[in-house]
Amino acid sequence: AKPAPANFLRAIIERDQQAGTYEQRRFAGSPGDASHHAAGQPDPARVRLRFPPEPNGYLHIGHAKSICLNFGLARDFGGVCHLRFDDTNPEKEEQEYVDAIEEMVQWLGWNWDAHGTSHKFYASNYFDFMYQAAELLIERGLAYVDEQTPEQMRASRGDFSKPGVDSPFRGRTPAENLARFREMRDGQHPDGAMVLRAKIDMASPNINLRDPALYRIRRATHHNTGDKWCIYPMYTYAHPIEDALERISHSICTLEFEDQRPFYDWLLERLAETVTLPDGRQVGGLLQHPLPKQYEFGRLNLSYVITSKRKLKQLVDEGHVQGWDDPRMPTLAGLRRRGYTPAAIRKMADDSGASKTNSWLDYSVLEGCLRDDLEHKAHRGMAVLDPVKLVLTNWAEVFGAPGYTEPCTQPALPASAVPEGQTPPPERQFLIGNEVWIEREDFEETPPKGYKRLFPGNLVRLKGGYVVECTGCTRDANGQVTEVLAKVIPDTKSGTPGADSVKAKAAITWVAVADGVPAEVRLYDRLFSEPQPDAGGKDFLQALNPNSLKVITAIVEPSLAAAQPDQKFQFERHGYFVADRKDHGVGGKVVFNRVTGLKDSWGK
Ligand code: ATP
Ligand code: MG
Ligand code: MG
Repeated sequence: AKPAPANFLRAIIERDQQAGTYEQRRFAGSPGDASHHAAGQPDPARVRLRFPPEPNGYLHIGHAKSICLNFGLARDFGGVCHLRFDDTNPEKEEQEYVDAIEEMVQWLGWNWDAHGTSHKFYASNYFDFMYQAAELLIERGLAYVDEQTPEQMRASRGDFSKPGVDSPFRGRTPAENLARFREMRDGQHPDGAMVLRAKIDMASPNINLRDPALYRIRRATHHNTGDKWCIYPMYTYAHPIEDALERISHSICTLEFEDQRPFYDWLLERLAETVTLPDGRQVGGLLQHPLPKQYEFGRLNLSYVITSKRKLKQLVDEGHVQGWDDPRMPTLAGLRRRGYTPAAIRKMADDSGASKTNSWLDYSVLEGCLRDDLEHKAHRGMAVLDPVKLVLTNWAEVFGAPGYTEPCTQPALPASAVPEGQTPPPERQFLIGNEVWIEREDFEETPPKGYKRLFPGNLVRLKGGYVVECTGCTRDANGQVTEVLAKVIPDTKSGTPGADSVKAKAAITWVAVADGVPAEVRLYDRLFSEPQPDAGGKDFLQALNPNSLKVITAIVEPSLAAAQPDQKFQFERHGYFVADRKDHGVGGKVVFNRVTGLKDSWGK
């Protein structure tokens, strides 16, 4: 394996491994310990990371960055990476999203099963523990029930220019707060009537420490816990606890959580320490050291792409695209259907490293990674996207009968594309006959300067077949070319001794009428016409490209028509195409999606 690129997260893990910070950890076996290991058993993982999506939508290319970073670091450092569904927000979460997320993490090539254990977790499995921890904070005088309206709370929180103002409920005793909190849990108060808040510092320069909300009342059915709860923990409260219970060593998140880090540490320290209450009871010790530490890296932004589940959901819900897996979507399901490979996405993620600032990556970088991958994998084939018939008028004369056909062969991969040490795949076979389909643009009755393809008097090779000499064309009443006419030159077939006996100025792609198969080809273009469709709060719907999909009927050679769903090809000169994983083959239909064009256009 090639050495992994250096980044600051790697350096932090290396430092911790050298210092032995997470060596010889043992499982606690506490009710909240979700690792399924018995108490006292040593932890075989040298580092524990997690990828914690909220199941409120499909994963997108930004998530792929986070997945590859976390799973990749775990692999490189002898650790494990947990897949954790951060499902603390019941209104927006659905089983469909849970299933789609699992499928896509696996599709990218990652596995949460390691050391004989599954490392798939649900935050909602910790609701009991989170509740217990909240009662501990209340008993310690570190949390209170606030009955202000949301507007009052917002106003009294203050802002960067001024400190906050204490809530009138801030001075309640632990006993009063405990009673109220239990009433909240027991459904005695309407949704939104009150929240549990941490009692930290209303004057803190970090707004996140001005008594953040920990629990809210919300009567909503949860996809995992059903109607058991009518109070749900806030993300900022739940997330550190999830990490700690799973004994995550390095909690890697995106930059916008930097200001949450002091609260993350505050909370975990409070839950881990043991203290004596005024009544003499010893409480605490809910978590074990070493506690997880949070580290932030910059989000990945891709030009011409939106990476926000909320906005992507809007595109789906309002019908701007044909679903989460529409090949124009930057979701992993969409990219897969578009023909992107896991290897290309992983390479993009690896190459872009991890930095401490948010970055914009040019879409062409992702496309480049894909071309590099497909160059050696995608078999070649000929397809005519804008067909016009070429009639070889002397065919019967040369070969004895107008219906005579002859087999031709071409390599599925050119020698230069066959990976070193591998044997080339079997050659493709197709027919040539008296009529073939060619691209309409490959004929000009009056050639522009430098034009080398078909025009009267010019010699051109039908790639893999014969050299032909153009003689003219027929047109309909509107002047549209209906047939291009040419003569086949005998004994010039590719791969025969006479192949080089006449020099053709150009070689063009074609498909015989005898064995060509009509195919629906979906020509996708970028979904947005602007490089930063939602920058600065812009209405991204205004930037939708009205021409992001054009459907045509093409003619493809037999090897392409025989494709398996999801099989990728290079249509010679046109670019990369994939047999649509849903529609190809249904009812015998041949359906291809354009993945991307070739780097340099062919035949200019
Ligand atoms: P969205 O805004 O699209 O909903 P999110 O961050 O709210 O994204 P989560 O489901 O919470 O979505 O994301 C899971 C993980 O993926 C988080 O750790 C998050 O930081 C990370 N992630 C999401 N988007 C990106 C991105 N563009 N670049 C890198 N990491 C990302
Ligand atoms: Mg999130
Ligand atoms: Mg979000």
